[in-house]
Amino acid sequence: MHVVTRFAPSPTGSLHIGGARTALFCWLFAKHHGGKFLLRVEDTDRARSTPESIETIIDGMKWLGLDWDNKDYEGRDYYSQFDMRGRHADVARQMVAEGKAYYCYASPQELEAMRAEQKAKGLPQRYDGRWRDRPASDAPEGVPPVVRLKTPQTGETTVTDAVMGEITVQNSQLDDMVLLRADGTPTYMLAVVVDDHDMGVTHVIRGDDHMTNTFRQVQIYNAMGWDVPTFGHLPMILGPDGSKMSKRHGAQAVGEYREQGYLPEAVCNYLLRLCWTHGDDEIIPQKKAIEWFDLGSVGRSAARFDFVKLKSLNAHYIREMPDNELAKLAVPFVEKKLGKKLAPANVDLLEKAMPDLKPRASTLLDIADMSAFYFHEGAFDFDAKAQKIMTPEAGDALKELAARMEGMDDFSGSALEEIFRAYAEAKGVKLGAVAQPLRVALSGSTVSPPIFHVADLLGKTETLKRIAAAL
Ligand code: GLU
Repeated sequence: MHVVTRFAPSPTGSLHIGGARTALFCWLFAKHHGGKFLLRVEDTDRARSTPESIETIIDGMKWLGLDWDNKDYEGRDYYSQFDMRGRHADVARQMVAEGKAYYCYASPQELEAMRAEQKAKGLPQRYDGRWRDRPASDAPEGVPPVVRLKTPQTGETTVTDAVMGEITVQNSQLDDMVLLRADGTPTYMLAVVVDDHDMGVTHVIRGDDHMTNTFRQVQIYNAMGWDVPTFGHLPMILGPDGSKMSKRHGAQAVGEYREQGYLPEAVCNYLLRLCWTHGDDEIIPQKKAIEWFDLGSVGRSAARFDFVKLKSLNAHYIREMPDNELAKLAVPFVEKKLGKKLAPANVDLLEKAMPDLKPRASTLLDIADMSAFYFHEGAFDFDAKAQKIMTPEAGDALKELAARMEGMDDFSGSALEEIFRAYAEAKGVKLGAVAQPLRVALSGSTVSPPIFHVADLLGKTETLKRIAAAL
């Protein structure tokens, strides 16, 4: 099947997680069919569109790994809808010439009065077609008109949506929408159809908040005699409590997930699983997602975002990632936590510590929190729990053990553990009674990765330095 999909964000803010889901599904569908995936920035609203927003959206797409196929468009990275405005206007005028659309000279005040009257009568508020059949000779002087589509007023329009199934509306419910504003700029409704047609888009996959627009857009395709693409409307993503997803539920923008230490693999896997099923599969790596994806298995009802599930998927992808790659990703988080750059030797140390950190981390932020102590300089500020461990007896034991460590040639975790075990046995105490003070001395805390391995990674000099500072 020949497939061209597109993601068509309006650059008026960040890349929302719902938008990311739409982009992912468009991307997967195109990849699955060996087709093309396009990025079109819908920047016709000049007042609300910003270059920063375009940058944020592109950054988010790149971070998620959703590469698009129109990257070399006139030296730009994406299609800009605004660029196509001349073509949009030409299409509107062509429709006027063919009698499919017409000029409407009604003033905003007049239209407002019309709606007020409809409201007072309890009628649906929509354009009443007052200029639909008037002759050109009626046109008032000096009033720039809008162009409206002559929408069929009888019959019905059926859309067979690839996700939602067959949906029909009565054409009498559709009014004659504006295609071109009085200032000659196209409306979204016109621009989106012309662009999708011109770009050869075969499948329009987008949020189901666009469902009502679809019936209107189909009228434009029909008026122009163009092939109507297949539509696939994706259900809304709601907050965990079933209400509209908002700030109070948690992160909204893709960039926030990134800052909170989520991996793009996990975010994509989560968004896929949230709105699409493949048996009981939960872990669906990208390759499998491309192989399996179809629109028929997208759920029809709104999905509730589950942050706990996302976190557990993230933990999975963290555990799966090779240590060197994970360390590279964690470096900026660790540096932010420490407020300083990590020296190359410390980046090496972070990589070597990964096998101890990975199993306990759900996000890169967790890794930063758990690993900051490795790079600590100066004495630790012990909290109450740590102070309780560091008793005078524990201090004496550590002092003795430090003297033994000094003479060790093999400073490996297992060699250290042996020394500590032997010492504990000789003193008739449990290993924890000596290992716990070592933990506090080396990490500043009562919780840390396996402590003998920590000592091994810190090395003899640093280990002895920390013990001395703790006593
Ligand atoms: N620009 C529209 C939006 O951001 C999307 C248009 C479409 O996908 O057809 O909601």
